[in-house]
Amino acid sequence: MIPKVRWPGGKDFAFTIFDDPDLDTVENVTAIYSFLGDIGLRTTKAVWPIRGNDTPNVGGVTCEDEQYLKWILSLKEHGFEIALHNVTYHTSTREQTAHGIERFYQLFGHYPHSMANHTGCLESIYWGRARLSGGKQTLYNLLKMLLNGNRAQFQGHLETSPLFWGDLCRERIKYVRNFVLGDINTLKACPMMPYHDPDRPYVNYWFAASEGPRIESYNAMMSEENQERLEREGGACIMYTHLASGFLENGNINKRFKGLMERMSRMNGWFVPVHTLLDFILEAHGNHCISHVERNDLERRWLWHKVLHTGGRS
Ligand SMILES: [Zn+2]
Repeated sequence: MIPKVRWPGGKDFAFTIFDDPDLDTVENVTAIYSFLGDIGLRTTKAVWPIRGNDTPNVGGVTCEDEQYLKWILSLKEHGFEIALHNVTYHTSTREQTAHGIERFYQLFGHYPHSMANHTGCLESIYWGRARLSGGKQTLYNLLKMLLNGNRAQFQGHLETSPLFWGDLCRERIKYVRNFVLGDINTLKACPMMPYHDPDRPYVNYWFAASEGPRIESYNAMMSEENQERLEREGGACIMYTHLASGFLENGNINKRFKGLMERMSRMNGWFVPVHTLLDFILEAHGNHCISHVERNDLERRWLWHKVLHTGGRS
C-alpha cells in the first residue's frame, strides 16, 4: 500500500499540465499561457528543439523559429517547465536525437527533466506494443490494426537499431510518460508513479497522465465534479493535452475552459510543473520498482480505457 502524499504548504491537492507541441504556432498558444500564468498556474510546455528536414506526420513550430523560441524562453523565465517531445516532429536517427538533446541543453541550460514520445516517430522509446507486456502486445497490435491500420515498430530502446538512443535517455532524462488514463486523479489511477520498470531499463522513471487531448475532452475531464473529487481525495492530476487544439477560438480563449481553470485556480491546490510534482512524490514515496502484478493491472485498465474511450489514441 503506497501512503497518501501530504502536499507542501498545507495544499489539498496538486494539478499540472503536460502540453504537447502538436500544431503549435506562436499565434495559437501564447494567449493560453498568458492566461495560465495570470491565474497562478505553472505547468509544463513540451517542445521540439530542432526543425526536421522531412514532412511531419503531425507538425507544429519548433525552437528553430526565432519568435517561438523567444516566447518559450520567456515561459521558462516565468517558472514554466520546458520539456521534450522527441527532438523533432518526425523520425530521427541516433545522431539527430543526440544533436537535438544537446541543442535542448544549449537553449535551456539543462537537459530535459521530462518527455513524452511524439506520434509516428519510430525512435520513440518503449512505444507501440513495447508499452505492454506479454500477451497484451498481441491485443495491442490487433487494436491498432483495427483502428488505425498501423503497427509500426518503435526502436528507441533497441540497441541494434540506427534509431537507438536508450542510453542517452537514461543519462539525460528523468521522467517519461506512458499510460494516459480516464481519471482526473492521475495519482489514484497510478499510485506507484513515478516508477522504474526493470523490464524497460533505459527509462529512469515513468509517469502516467489524465486523458484530455483536445478542448472537448479536456473540459469534460476538468468538470466541477471531477475538480471536487480531486480535492476531496487529496490527489494529483497531470493533464496530457495539446493546447493548440481548439483552446483558442477566433482569437478568444474557450469560455468553458477559462471558467473551469479559473475555478480550479481559486481552490487550495499546488500548481507546479510536472517535474516539480514528480520530484516531490518521488521524495515522499522513495524509489518504486513496478511489480509484474502492478504492471498487469495498470496495462489492463489502460487497454480497457483505450478501447472504450479514445479510439486507440494515446
Ligand atoms: Zn505529439
